[in-house]
Parts: sequence; C-alpha cells; structure tokens
Amino acid sequence: GVYANAPDREVDSVCPYCGVGCQLTYKIRDNKIVAVDGKDGPSNQNRLCVKGRFGFDYAHHGDRLTVPLIRKEGVSKHDVDIDPMNPFTHFREATWDEALAVAAGGLRKIRDERGGNALAGFGSAKGSNEEAYLFQKLVRTGFGTNNVDHCTRLCHASSVAALIEGVGSGAVSAPFMAAEDAEVIVIIGANPTENHPVAATFFKNAAERGAKLIVMDPRGLAMARHATHMLQFTPGRDVSMLNAILHTIIAEGLYDRQYVQANTEDFEALAETVKDYPPEEMEKVCGIPAATLRTVARLFARSKASIIFWGMGVSQHIHGTDNSRCLIALSLVTGQIGRPGTGLHPLRGQNNVQGASDAGLIPMFYPDYKSVEDPEVQSFYENYWGTKLDGKRGLTVVEIMDAIHDGRINGLYIEGENPAMSDPDVTHAREALAMLDHLVVQDIFLTETAKYADVVLPASAWPEKDGTVINTNRQVQMGRAAVPLPGEARQDLWIIQDMARGLGLNWTYTHVSEVFTEMVGAMPSLANISWERVEREGSVTYPVDGPDQPGHDIVFGNGFPTKTGRGRFVPARPINPAETPDLDYPLVLTTGRQLEHWHTGSMTRRSSVLDAVEPEAVAYVSPHDLTRAGMRTGDYMLVSSRRGTIRLKARIDDRMPVGLVFIPFAYAEAAANVLTNPQLDPFGKIPEFKYCAIRIEKAQMA
Ligand code: SF4
Repeated sequence: GVYANAPDREVDSVCPYCGVGCQLTYKIRDNKIVAVDGKDGPSNQNRLCVKGRFGFDYAHHGDRLTVPLIRKEGVSKHDVDIDPMNPFTHFREATWDEALAVAAGGLRKIRDERGGNALAGFGSAKGSNEEAYLFQKLVRTGFGTNNVDHCTRLCHASSVAALIEGVGSGAVSAPFMAAEDAEVIVIIGANPTENHPVAATFFKNAAERGAKLIVMDPRGLAMARHATHMLQFTPGRDVSMLNAILHTIIAEGLYDRQYVQANTEDFEALAETVKDYPPEEMEKVCGIPAATLRTVARLFARSKASIIFWGMGVSQHIHGTDNSRCLIALSLVTGQIGRPGTGLHPLRGQNNVQGASDAGLIPMFYPDYKSVEDPEVQSFYENYWGTKLDGKRGLTVVEIMDAIHDGRINGLYIEGENPAMSDPDVTHAREALAMLDHLVVQDIFLTETAKYADVVLPASAWPEKDGTVINTNRQVQMGRAAVPLPGEARQDLWIIQDMARGLGLNWTYTHVSEVFTEMVGAMPSLANISWERVEREGSVTYPVDGPDQPGHDIVFGNGFPTKTGRGRFVPARPINPAETPDLDYPLVLTTGRQLEHWHTGSMTRRSSVLDAVEPEAVAYVSPHDLTRAGMRTGDYMLVSSRRGTIRLKARIDDRMPVGLVFIPFAYAEAAANVLTNPQLDPFGKIPEFKYCAIRIEKAQMA
C-alpha cells in the first residue's frame, strides 16, 4: 500500500561523507530526500553506515544559505556572535550580481596592487573533481599563484609525500576489498569501525574467515574485538615500533631477497638504520613486548598475502611522513605488494579527497601530481591553459594562516572548507581570518569560517549537483543532482566560473562534462575514462588500459611508476612529538571523528538522526584519569593546553590508556582544535593533531 511518506522518485548517487564511496539511492518526495538506500556499488555491495543512511536531511535544514550576503559596513570581523538562522545582524542581503562583483573585485584589487602571491584559495574535498579542477585553475591562472590547498593537508599529506617518494604514486595500491584475499591484515592508526564503517565490515568478514588481523593503535579501538593481535602502543612511538618489526624481518632473514633485489633500491640504508632498533630495546619505548613485535614481524613476512591499511593516526604527526616510510618499507622488504591480498592502502577520509588531490588542489602540484617547479610541466600547462604560470610552489593550509599573520597574504577565497574549526590552534587561524583585507566564503551554511567573510556565496549541497568523485579505492564514481537548490543558492561550479570571469578569465563552460573532459585531457592517470563511461558504468577504477577495459584494482605488480621503476626505501629514525607532557600539562590529547559526526560537524550536526544520537561535545577519558581528576562520566570538565581551554562533558572509556584523552573535533561549542599544536611535519606539512600536552579538571556547573 501507499504510505504517507512514499517517495515519488529515486536518484542514484554516491554518499557525501567518507572515502569508502558507497553508492546509494536517494528516495525523494516533493523534491525532498525522505530516505536513502544502499546500492550495489563496488565498494559497498548494498551496505551503508549510519551517516550514509541517515545523514541526508542537512540539505533541507533551515540554516541553509539561500541568498548572497555582504558584510555590513562597520561590523567588526572579531564579532562572530551570529545566529546562522538570522545572519542579518552582521550581513546584508545582496543580489548575485552585486555579491560576485564585490567578491571578485576585492580579490582582483589585491592581485593588481600587491601581486598574485598576496592571494590564496582553499578548495574542497567535499565537492566534485570538476569543482576541484576549476578551483585550482582559477587560483593558478586568475590569481596568478600556487597558493591553493585543501583539507588533504590536514589528513594524508604526509602519507602522499612518502608514497610518491617511495613508490611513485600517492594512491592506494589495492582496494580495501583486497582484505578478502589477505592472510594478514594490518590496520594501524585508523578507526575504520567509526570512520570507514563499510570498509570495516570487509575487515571483520576477513577476520571471521580466519585472516590474522593485527591492529596497532594507542586507543583500544572497537576493531580490537576482531583482532588476533592488538598492539596498543605508546602514543607517538610508531617509528620505534615499526623499526623493531623491520629489524626483526631483516635480522631473521625473513625478507624477500629476490623481490628486494629485482624491485627496490636503497635496501642497505634501511638495513643499516633498523639495525639500531632491536625489539628488546624498543619494548620500553613503544610499550609492546619484544615477543609480540617478533611474532607480528614473522606473521607479516611469512604470510602468502599481507596488506596494510592506515589512517590519520599515522599521518597526523610531525613524524607522519616517517611513519608512512616505515609502512612502505614493510611492504617492499617482504614483497607484500602488487599481488591479490597485498598492498598499501591509506584509508582516505573525505568522499573526494583522492579526486581533489589528483585534480591539483595542492600548492606543489598541477593535476596528476606534476611538480609546479618542473619547467617542462609548467610549459605544458601554460600551453593547455593559455596563460603564464607562477613557477614557485605555493603555501599550504597552515602556512597560509601564518602568511596572513605576517601580512604576506591579504585575500582568500574559501570554497567548502571550514578552517576556523579544522585548523590546528584555531584561535590563531581565526585571528588570521579576521585580519584579511578580503575574504570570500562559498558554502551551504554560515560556518564558523563564513562568519569572518566579507562576502558569503550560497552554494550547493552534494545532492544538488552532478559531478564525479574518486573514492579511496581509485574508483571514479558519478554523483547526480537529486533535489533542487534552496532559494537563490547556486551550484559551486558556476559560482567558480563567475568568480573566474570577475578576475578577467574568459571561461565559457556550459556543462560539467566539458570540465571533466578538459581535466582528463591533462591527466594521463585518468586516460580512457570519459564522462559518458562513468555515467554509464557508475564506477570506473583507474588506471585503465582502454575505453572498454576494466580498470586495474591492483597496481605495482610489475615495478613502480618511479624514475628508476623501483620502489625506494627511505629509512626513518624516531623523533619525539613536538610537545610532550610535563607537570603543567601531564596528559596527551588525540583528536578525530566519531561514527555519527563528520569532520567539523557542519553537515552531521544538522542531520536530525545523527544529532539526536550524539548531541553534545564529549571527551573520552580513561577510568583512571577520570577518577584522579575527581570526576564521573557525564561531569563537565575543562581541558586546557598551552593554546586555550574548552569545556565539555567527560565520557568514561575503559579502552583508553591511562594518560590519553580523545576529543572529536566536530563540536563548535568546544572546538578541540583550540587545543591542538600547529607544529608541522617537515615533508607533508601536516600538523600534529594526534599529540599535544593537556590537563583536565572538573568544571563548575554552568
Ligand atoms: Fe558513507 Fe562512508 Fe558510511 Fe559508506 S561508509 S555510507 S561512504 S560514510
């Protein structure tokens, strides 16, 4: 029978949250999404997690921006006490013509007076490939600078730096479904149960059928229940632990000599370095018994197929690149790569962080990771885009905030990012936003970042536009417009085009497929993938050899895309985290996401079901630390670091080790990044979100 809320139509698309890239079907009634179902996509096989299934009604939330806004004369940028439902205390409504003229005009003025390097742009890993491509093209050709970046800088930049150096490509060597063929699965510094839930189901299934599941993480995560080996190591001591495992593999002759000889270089440098880290000595440092380190080393090296998955726990350290170098070495030295059930897989966070990075939203690379400092590459792109380009690498996310403080950058265009919540030491980042001469923010809500804007451009939610995305498995998938835009909001692609025109560029794209085709034309990695093909097949894995061939799920079976064709060992020596606990700040803070809340919370906290499940900011504390601070679960506590204090609820978590506190960064009312340390990894320029010194105390009831 027909029920009251029966959908009147359906549209197939992709989930807007994580890098798993689940395909889904929007069920629509009266132009509103009323339900979501899983589709049989290659990475989800009909499964969805709670975010994909219930996190859709943000698109219809009353906070949506529906008209362009211009800051009112005389309203200080330091006054950000604005109700998103009523932004007119600080902003006035404007027509699109006026808003675009002011938005682009302000940037143009800075460019013309102070040069392109006084400008910067943050694109988004939440949007499509086409948006990412056009955004970086606008910054490079319209602003005249390579100061363009996005949130990959805060997530896997260090992994990508290590992968490009070691194996010549920043993408995964195998999809996560390869866990099905693995004998040994290592998951390190990742919490897939909450952050990649559908991928986690593949890992759990593999463990069930008998694969050895080795979980390495300082937090005793939910995945521990399924693990055959749980290595809950001391926070920040990853390199010591991994070097001890590498030491064992080499000292016990467990490495694959033939593979190493035929396919790698600099093995001697690795052997020489890891010699200094025997398990018996590293036991004290990393907190894992030598016998366990040896067992894990033997299991990994001897199995027919071993695969490694990692997440932000590996990458968000000042030694994030070193962590990844160790994982790459582990794979290469044992030859556990390039075959079914083997490989290296950094679990990508955002729905399109792979695609946005591939498309060139990176200050050191044009699309396809082509160096901006290579004159040959530069002349290719000058020719392709028909304009002169700046041959110097641009600044990264955190560096841009510093450059604003120094007065070197005065204008910023932000599309779909929320640095006022996502940057480390957000007080410093917010000061930077307030200092800008001109800030343009294009978003769907009046985010914490948009509150600092001179002009706010109301943009499109994911189900309101067509475009391709690339998930963690290198699968190019099609997102489709399902519902109309609210009010005068517009699709991001066309806002970017109008901004480009306002900066003097003569862009005349009329369909998103034209942008896709231009992008693919500059990206050999996407060869043989046409818009029509993605439209028809729904998902195409790159690389792919011909327009009718299936893509390669597993790569590096036959050498590496490096200059020598070999994988390269880059050994690492342990360094201390940038800030270690002391008497004033005796505990360690680590940050991340929860199952229900995505990143800075702008979407999930406006999704009614998700918000109902996790409505309030919480910190996860070990029973010991909670009792010591004289608190019980549910008490309000103050958490302080050298950079600030936040107030939030304590939640007891008996899996947390003594001395470590976990806080999700989704809550604006208690922003975890007020506390975090902005020190950067020197190679990936990623901040140390996973380690800073804090103290906790009971808060007085408000
Ligand atoms: Fe969406 Fe990721 Fe959940 Fe799949 S696992 S439904 S892609 S959030």
